[in-house]
Amino acid sequence: MSSPLPYGGFPVHRPRRLRESPALRRLVRETRLSAEQLVLPLFARPGRKVRQPVGSMPGVFQLSPDELVRDAGLAFAAGVPSVLLFGIPGRKDERASGAYARNGIVQQTVRLLKRELPGLLVLTDVCLCEYMSHGHCGVVKPGPRGTRVLNDPSLALLARTAASHAEAGADIVAPSDMMDGRVRAIRAALDQAGFSHTPIMSYAAKYASAFYGPFRDAAESAPKFGDRLSYQMDAANSDEAMREVALDVAEGADIVMVKPALAYLDIIHRVKSTFRLPTAAYAVSGEFSMIKAAAARGWLDEKAVTLEALLSLRRAGADIVITYAAKEVAGWLKE
Ligand SMILES: [Zn+2]
Repeated sequence: MSSPLPYGGFPVHRPRRLRESPALRRLVRETRLSAEQLVLPLFARPGRKVRQPVGSMPGVFQLSPDELVRDAGLAFAAGVPSVLLFGIPGRKDERASGAYARNGIVQQTVRLLKRELPGLLVLTDVCLCEYMSHGHCGVVKPGPRGTRVLNDPSLALLARTAASHAEAGADIVAPSDMMDGRVRAIRAALDQAGFSHTPIMSYAAKYASAFYGPFRDAAESAPKFGDRLSYQMDAANSDEAMREVALDVAEGADIVMVKPALAYLDIIHRVKSTFRLPTAAYAVSGEFSMIKAAAARGWLDEKAVTLEALLSLRRAGADIVITYAAKEVAGWLKE
């Protein structure tokens, strides 16, 4: 790489000149975070007037559809244009039947959201773990060397789930399971069901991360046995992320995601600079809760640290920022 300076050095060049005033700093600012880029994840559970706090995520609740519509409306009014829905069903089984039930918790909530807030963009997480009694993201089968999560038999269930979300009115479906070939299966199912216009945002590079800890309380999706290392990515791998993203793009992903975000800025940067596709970064539960916990002790300035962390995702190359702090951030950005 050549020098970023065409000629000379100090004292001709004094970078501090452009930092003299707030207006000057704003003029030359390279990256901005804006509310239009934010997506707020929300957790839907059955019932009415239910607001169940998630202990490890202050300010985050499992919400019945009526309450979820209320919170989505408040976020929308604050300037957040999109939500990402997760469902916690009343009953789990070995076929994840709640994931693709016509009147499943996500399907019901999507219909209600699209009726009450037609301008809100509704994204749905497509996975099986919240609906499986064992908590894995696919169909499992016991074998001589332990229980395995089966890839190909999971694809049909994922595809059926995505199509049922689209039928309920989802604007974008977002598969998060990390099974091989699922984007292709979902694209085919959507097209066949008349939803060739519905985009897929794939969790393309999703790492097996300890930062998901608090989410598993929120979505009640912790695996009952084993771990997710056989399908989510190894935190040490970067080239592999490029292969994962390339496969999803070839299979029809319209938007690709890197998850988690803050500990994977290099991956966000590589994905964006290699594929030049709309790229999302998911600031996961652990990233959110770390800041909340430190702020509650007076150790960090919650607003400043949250804005700095999310801006770093934009600087790394993310176009879309998924964060539990979306509503607060939208408010701060207006100040
Ligand atoms: Zn899952």
